[in-house]
Amino acid sequence: MARKFVYSFGGGKADGKAEMKNLLGGKGANLAEMAGHKELRLPVPSGFTITTEVCTHFYKSNRKYPTKLKGQVNAAMKKVEHLMGKKFGDEKNPLLVSVRSGARKSMPGMMETVLNVGLTQKTIQGVIKLTGNERFAYDSYRRLITMYSDVVMEKAAGIEPKEGQGIRQQLDRILDKTKKEKGVKTDSELDAATLKNLCAVYKAKIKEVLGKEFPDNAEEQLWGGVGAVFSSWNGRRAISYRRIEGIPDEWGTAVNVQSMVFGNMGETSATGVAFTRNPGNGDNKFYGEYLVNAQGEDVVAGIRTPAPINSYSQSDHNKNLVILEKLMPKAYKQLEDIRKRLEYHYKDMQDIEFTIENEKLFMLQCRSGKRNGPAAVRMAMDMLKEKLIKKDDVVTRVTPSQLDELLHPIIDPKEEKVAKILAKGLPAGPGGACGQIVFNANDAVAWYKSGKKVILVREETNPEDVEGMRAAEAILTARGGMTSHAALVARGWGKCCIVGCSEVEIDAHTKILSVNGTTLKEGDWITLNGSKGTFYAGRLPMINATEENKLFNDFLKICDMVRTLKIRTNADTPDDAAKARAFGAEGIGLFRTEHMFYGKNSEEPLFKLRKMIVSKSTEERRRALGELFPHVKKDIKGTLAAMSGFPVTIRLLDPPLHEFVPHDEGQMKNLAESLGISMDVLEKRAASLRESNPMMGHRGVRLGVTYPEVTEMQIRAIFEAAAELIKENKKVFPEVMIPVVCTERELNHQLEIAKRVYKEVLAQYNLKQIPHLFGTMIEIPRAALVSDKIAEVAEFFSFGTNDLTQMGFGFSRDDIGGFLPDYVGKKILPEDPFQSIDVEGIGQLIDISVRKGRSVKKDLKIGICGEHGGDPASIHFCHKVGMNYVSCSPYRVPIARLAAAQAALADKPTKKR
Ligand code: PEP
Ligand code: MG
Repeated sequence: MARKFVYSFGGGKADGKAEMKNLLGGKGANLAEMAGHKELRLPVPSGFTITTEVCTHFYKSNRKYPTKLKGQVNAAMKKVEHLMGKKFGDEKNPLLVSVRSGARKSMPGMMETVLNVGLTQKTIQGVIKLTGNERFAYDSYRRLITMYSDVVMEKAAGIEPKEGQGIRQQLDRILDKTKKEKGVKTDSELDAATLKNLCAVYKAKIKEVLGKEFPDNAEEQLWGGVGAVFSSWNGRRAISYRRIEGIPDEWGTAVNVQSMVFGNMGETSATGVAFTRNPGNGDNKFYGEYLVNAQGEDVVAGIRTPAPINSYSQSDHNKNLVILEKLMPKAYKQLEDIRKRLEYHYKDMQDIEFTIENEKLFMLQCRSGKRNGPAAVRMAMDMLKEKLIKKDDVVTRVTPSQLDELLHPIIDPKEEKVAKILAKGLPAGPGGACGQIVFNANDAVAWYKSGKKVILVREETNPEDVEGMRAAEAILTARGGMTSHAALVARGWGKCCIVGCSEVEIDAHTKILSVNGTTLKEGDWITLNGSKGTFYAGRLPMINATEENKLFNDFLKICDMVRTLKIRTNADTPDDAAKARAFGAEGIGLFRTEHMFYGKNSEEPLFKLRKMIVSKSTEERRRALGELFPHVKKDIKGTLAAMSGFPVTIRLLDPPLHEFVPHDEGQMKNLAESLGISMDVLEKRAASLRESNPMMGHRGVRLGVTYPEVTEMQIRAIFEAAAELIKENKKVFPEVMIPVVCTERELNHQLEIAKRVYKEVLAQYNLKQIPHLFGTMIEIPRAALVSDKIAEVAEFFSFGTNDLTQMGFGFSRDDIGGFLPDYVGKKILPEDPFQSIDVEGIGQLIDISVRKGRSVKKDLKIGICGEHGGDPASIHFCHKVGMNYVSCSPYRVPIARLAAAQAALADKPTKKR
């Protein structure tokens, strides 16, 4: 049998279903599901989907279609004609269709659509006769001419017009002029004769600008539309969006050809967009907007202010407009019913598009709705309560980056209370943000690259703005509703965003924004509250929004039930340790001892450390170590206490000593005095510490090998701190970790010292034991390869993936800025291996190490403490190779809890959950 390229739907039947997204795209698969599934059978205008395989074929074979396609399209069109009782291209009883894109993953507004395909000089007469509505017919025709000339005749033909000279812009200018001449504000006020004339003027303009006639043939229009949608897969906007979202180029888009239903047939017709729950906060309330006498695009494009579908969807901006529930109660009631059925069927919030033609409701699209982080958590928890979904589903309903939004800053409420609100718009993306105003996407990108924080201020955004929107801290638009482009995109990214702020007047040319008597220019600072929709001049301080959010905590408790990986934190101070515990950390995976020599309150210990490192004799060094000892002990004691019995991995001194050598003359003088040596001698000693490759020099365990007394002091500090806490009836569990090890003999050497000191401390405090473990970091490739030998000695492994990546790739961690962006930009590496574990290479080292280690010690405790411990993809990898825990910075702990739970679910055998 010939390969099937075309899938029909309509009349209560469909060839496809929701699971076929890869082949039919999201839109096509869901149209089939809505039309054909026995639980649904919703009023979907019949049509057919041309598969994504055709798109792939199109690009592989120099923009040619498979030979069987045409026949299959003709057959599918026949079915549609039969169901609709109309004929495509027929003069008396013409069928009109829409041609739309639909990729596997939604790419809002990034590809093309052509509506009203099939309208020609002849068929328009049929439409007029059938509908008795000349105005409607010419309104549809002028829309087709605009869309078709833009999408098919210009964009798909590869024509790149000058700024402001695109055919659509030229036609829109004619439309604006006509409206002015007629003294009307909106398109819907133009009468039939004016629209008819407009169509003729448009066509002449097209001929003049593009040098070609607008096609007056239904068949030609159809194939023009199909080709343009396939071409738009490789349009600039779509490519940019794919890069940002990580959507593979090979996927391709499907094309949906569907019989037209008309929301622009007059006052009893409408078109709208709705969400089965509020995507902004997760409320289980029907939420949406609609426009009377309008076609699909009008709602999303923000040309007219849409009206709310019900009183719940009212806002300050639209509260004077009539709600759909009142205007068309029958259609609204049907929509309410469909809302419930769709949620029950899909077990998730749906984003729907509908059209009402002469009071008759049609469903044009449904898909899982985009939502922000707070809404995602609320919906998942509510749906669990409503028994719509199960615990495991709850975990998969929230992405790590959505959870991250809940950890995002908000404007300090105290300061916000007294700040003057400049204006209020619609709260389209939550959280607070401040930045400098820029007026176009290119500036946003350029300023962002130079390290500035920007707020992109636009009349309204369009898909060409995506890169600038991405670069901006937040987005502010003067037009558009909650379903406008800006709102949709910002919501998907969890970005702070305010839309439809109509009091704002923007002059993008002079780069000036005026609002209620205040004038702001490019570069001025503003602060946005995307949760309320308010904005302020200047910079307001931000605070963290995690507060005691019960829902957030309950959600994470569910994650905890599912995950098997433990989550620890990298913390060096009691404060950080306490914060991480509040976020749910179950121990410290890395306490970097050297932290006490940096930053606040570090002067005294640092001075003593410096004395120690420039000491010449063991005796001199021991004296300096003696002075340093109480500082180290106090620091460790505070953190052990804060973790009340949870394991705390304390790493012995790691950085190359030369990092601590003072350069300042005053400090050098003090040091020389304190040691009783001359500046000359001190300078010589300091010079002898310099290394040309310090990262691979005298650091980590190597320090302990040359200066065993340094190890001895640290071990004593750890166990004395622990012993004192035990005497105070507190629980402790230190895990002593030796860094930068490459052979088990280094470890043996150090552990001999450690074990001796341990015994001495026990005797000193009259204790039988102090719970503890001795272990090592695996951060050198050699150590990974000889992990069986190392496991004979070590009681735990912790992967230092920062160094393991550095040494595995031979990329200096401190110098990657010079070349890594090129590697990623030129696709030599898929991403920065210092952010997400390079599974192929470094992952292999880890895998070998885990296997070899456990071949010797079955229950060897294994974790990760490199930066990758907070990266969701790396956490999946850690789960897969069988680690016991991951350790990350305090603020990443909630994200790690979620990612670990998702990793555990992904690993479950695929039984139906
Ligand atoms: C590592 O190398 O991964 C690590 C955690 O240690 P540091 O970053 O301190 O070298
Ligand atoms: Mg390291």
